[in-house]
Amino acid sequence: MKNFVLNKRVVVTGGAGFIGSHLCERLLADESEVLCVDNFYTGRRGNVIEFIDNPLFEISRHDITFPLYIEADEIYNLACPASPVHYQYDPVQTTKTCVHGSINMLGLAKRTGATILQASTSEVYGDPEQHPQTEAYWGNVNPIGLRSCYDEGKRCAETLFMDYHRQHGLPVKIARIFNTYGPRMHPHDGRVISNFIVQALSGEALTVYGEGEQTRSFCYVTDMVDALVRLMNTPDELTGPINLGNPVETSILELAERIIELTGSASSIVHKPLPQDDPVRRKPDISAARQTLDWEPTVELAEGLEHTIEYFRGLA
Ligand code: NAD
Ligand code: UDP
Repeated sequence: MKNFVLNKRVVVTGGAGFIGSHLCERLLADESEVLCVDNFYTGRRGNVIEFIDNPLFEISRHDITFPLYIEADEIYNLACPASPVHYQYDPVQTTKTCVHGSINMLGLAKRTGATILQASTSEVYGDPEQHPQTEAYWGNVNPIGLRSCYDEGKRCAETLFMDYHRQHGLPVKIARIFNTYGPRMHPHDGRVISNFIVQALSGEALTVYGEGEQTRSFCYVTDMVDALVRLMNTPDELTGPINLGNPVETSILELAERIIELTGSASSIVHKPLPQDDPVRRKPDISAARQTLDWEPTVELAEGLEHTIEYFRGLA
């Protein structure tokens, strides 16, 4: 008789979203049983359609602000709208997802003994006064601005993760994710790479906010997923927070010019007002990830943009 091997049972909240769907795909390739939990607020069935017939894959429509009773060995807590347009649409729900959602998923981890990973964000640094940002930096966050529902929600989630770890001995992992991009980004989520590609492909002017001198550092999604899986598999003592992202910094104006060139578009560039509390610079210090995860991004911006442009061309 064949040996009966039990697969790892992995819950991915927000699994029908952009990063979550790539994570589900990777975990299925590793032969884990994947339960994707999503309320489809910004996620789409289309993101997971390719593996919906995989017997190791299951999908549940559920809002994590309500408790969930299932069995699990690992939980990746990614559920939360990530783009400013979406998280500001219903800011109270955004904070609830970060705070009540984390409490529910931490409770699930506590009951099942699962290791739980939180998708935190570079936004916990706010508009940083330190460059590049290391994990030791406490941030510069406006607690009452338009971005606060997300920034403060994610900061409170980090607090909860560390308190469940200290108070209940729960194995937790906190990933501070910096701007990530790639196929399956929502075409209308207002993030800069999806906006610029959609605009370039439809011949519309690319909307650069402000002068476009603000910088971001963009990580391709497969690199990010690899880092998340490595972090989940570290020893229990390693909780993070740990910065995950690509340290190569690009100005938004340069990005617009690059996308126009790569798409061969005739689009022009228009300048629009800079949104409130828009960080001026953002670049991760990933020394800790290099050292503890033996990880660094491998996909260069030009290559990642090519794949992303190809994906958006396919949607047209
Ligand atoms: P996304 O919006 O594509 O995915 C979020 C998913 O969570 C969606 O499928 C959405 O439907 C689901 N969701 C939202 N609220 C929910 C709730 N209450 N219950 C159940 N499901 C819910 O965003 P993404 O870019 O894939 O981001 C995934 C995670 O990574 C988020 O937690 C985000 O804060 C974090 N993150 C992303 C980036 C980035 O650049 N993409 C940067 C930093 C942090
Ligand atoms: N941005 C822009 N044009 C757009 C969308 C965004 O110039 O059409 C700018 C935005 O002001 C910010 C940067 O691009 O400075 C990244 O924005 P995004 O919403 O992608 O992510 P975040 O601000 O959360 O890093």
